[in-house]
Amino acid sequence: VASINFGLDPREGDETLKDRDLPSEDAEYFECRAEGTAFAGLGDGLGAGGKQCKTPQQILNGTHANLLRLATARQTILEATSGLGLRIAVETKGRKAKYFIEYFDPQTGRLAEVEQSVGLPWGLLPPSAAKRVGLLTWTSKMGTPSFSLPAGPAASGGACPSAAGGQSIEEPRAREIFGKRVLQVLAERAPPAATPLPATVELSTAVCEHCYATTGNYSMYAAMVMQQLITFAWTKAALEHGDFVPIMIDAINRTDYKLKHEPAKWLATGWRFFRVHDSGDFFSKEYFRAWKAITDAFASDNPYGHAPIMFWAPTRMWAMPGWIEFVNEANGGANSKGNFVIRPSAYSLDQHAPDVKGGGWAAGSTVFAPSAADRVVACEVPPTFDWDCQAYAVKNGPTCRGAADPTGATGCRACWAAADAVVNYRAH
Ligand code: SF4
Repeated sequence: VASINFGLDPREGDETLKDRDLPSEDAEYFECRAEGTAFAGLGDGLGAGGKQCKTPQQILNGTHANLLRLATARQTILEATSGLGLRIAVETKGRKAKYFIEYFDPQTGRLAEVEQSVGLPWGLLPPSAAKRVGLLTWTSKMGTPSFSLPAGPAASGGACPSAAGGQSIEEPRAREIFGKRVLQVLAERAPPAATPLPATVELSTAVCEHCYATTGNYSMYAAMVMQQLITFAWTKAALEHGDFVPIMIDAINRTDYKLKHEPAKWLATGWRFFRVHDSGDFFSKEYFRAWKAITDAFASDNPYGHAPIMFWAPTRMWAMPGWIEFVNEANGGANSKGNFVIRPSAYSLDQHAPDVKGGGWAAGSTVFAPSAADRVVACEVPPTFDWDCQAYAVKNGPTCRGAADPTGATGCRACWAAADAVVNYRAH
């Protein structure tokens, strides 16, 4: 794919990015003492640290500064590297293959040089440069390959349209309008055990405001920020050129699933597992349809002889107008192959996910504070989720491959294989 009006920085292929971790939805204030604060609605007596909880404003001061820094970094990278071309390169080893996106000078066709003098908000670009990034990523928590796009609303260069109602970086009026829509869908699609909804989306508890994919490794390292921008640019261009589906099918089929570490019970099924979006979301219907075509190519009865793959995609696109129906139509009924598990993610901490199960949608996922999750597990309150993720209970974890699954066996793939169960991830 040539002549994309987008520049880039060569990094070290996927080597610097291969051990991507997925922290839980982060909320440091869960380690504080709620007593004596005005911070209501987040459970009580959380954590043993004895620290006084931050006020919502103090929380937002930190998260907003982080989002601003990330948006500035993205803008700086886009401006400083504009004009280079992107193309796919493949390294094969036996039947396995690694796909890369290379950057090149459209004038000479040669690989582009690193622009190390580009100043980012935290300093210069890393000197250990290569001329390409990996097309796929690896999530160490999941133990699966993944695909990664920039998180956040378009206002900050992200691929998550529905984050517009839950990130402080969004323009206030647009955030307010979208937030109303979020709450409307949540009210219409509330499961039986749902608790009352607030009048507005509260930014200090909105999951997107605290999104792990806009903090930590995702925002601290230029290589990571650039890889996602490059992947996003290539994705949009490849969709336009018709290359996205065939390239992704081959890349997904031939990447290394590290199956020698897969628990035997799952290995015996013959299924492999892929996480769609460790960061980012389905930013357009065209893009969703492309993923549907990709996942169909790995259904259990696929005509290509591909070993089957189960795909799991968490998403908040349920909040976008028409998307509940669109996913039902595109991935439901006769169009369902059963291997594209699309989970509607909760919008805020301690809140239900919309109940859109059936059709093309799987059950949702929630993020509850530990004390609130404990009450559900102890059956002290009506259940708001069916399975409480055990990845963080793993010694030397968190990992899915080492976690207990709903049957008590080691090696959990519930997010893929238990499509009817609402899964909770505890806020840490
Ligand atoms: S519920 Fe199971 S599959 Fe899902 S994230 Fe937790 S450990 Fe992994």
